[in-house]
Amino acid sequence: MTTRQSTPLQAPLTSAQASLYQQLRAHLAVLKLHDAAEHLPAVLDAAAAEKLSVTAALERLLAIEVDATSARRLAGRLRFACLPTPATLEDFDYDAGSGVDPHLIADLATGRYLESATNILMIGPPGVGKTHLAVGLARKAAESGYRTYVTTAADLAARCHRAAIEGRWATTMRFYAGPTCLVVDELGYLPLPAEGASALFQVIAQRYTKSSTILTTNRPITSWGEVLGDTTVAAALLDRLLHRSVVLDIGGDSYRLRDHHARTHALRAAANHG
Ligand code: ADP
Ligand code: MG
Repeated sequence: MTTRQSTPLQAPLTSAQASLYQQLRAHLAVLKLHDAAEHLPAVLDAAAAEKLSVTAALERLLAIEVDATSARRLAGRLRFACLPTPATLEDFDYDAGSGVDPHLIADLATGRYLESATNILMIGPPGVGKTHLAVGLARKAAESGYRTYVTTAADLAARCHRAAIEGRWATTMRFYAGPTCLVVDELGYLPLPAEGASALFQVIAQRYTKSSTILTTNRPITSWGEVLGDTTVAAALLDRLLHRSVVLDIGGDSYRLRDHHARTHALRAAANHG
């Protein structure tokens, strides 16, 4: 019986080389460069086979670690962001009649607004895509490396309420000051208690001129006095929010009800012509 053996790429290591290799692996382990450590044999083989320079081999090895680190950080940012839906800007349908300008969204998608701490206010009736766009922008922000967090006005109020009771107010305020991009969804769906309105005001006020807040609401700003239970708080909040801001007035029919409407129209048409 003949055994065919493929020619080894490299001559067997001498014991000095082997101990050097072990030491290199140990260095990578101490530095927690686990992906580089794992790919070390493959990179060394490739380096020998392709006659790579030391610089090229090191670059290849560290690029593996950098890629893995970036992927881990991105996953961490996305986990932290608490995106409530898988919505992306790419799957937003601009022909659905919401009147949203695709050029404006494309500009916002670059994240430039985050550098100037510009806020985004999305106003419109239910179902027109406010949450979709806010979450899409939040996802983009997280993907671009910005610390991002998505919440609702009701959740923010509830969390601040608990924090006040448990003596964690300052920590909680710092938490909401942290993200470069903070989404506060659904202001106006549930009435905020006075304390909740004041918590929201403090969050917006402390972020003012420092970092961007994306706020969505189904209520026109003229009725925010009602929404926040206090016209002075509403005026002060709007003052901070709108000082540097992009306002998206989103209209049209509810996307959620679109199919429903289409079916109703079809049924009606059939009934009229039948
Ligand atoms: P809102 O927050 O304004 O009440 P949502 O963003 O939650 O509305 O939209 C309701 C549903 O319809 C979601 O599933 C969303 O992804 C979808 N939707 C709304 N508008 C669009 C659109 N223009 N293109 C694609 N999906 C949309
Ligand atoms: Mg919504």
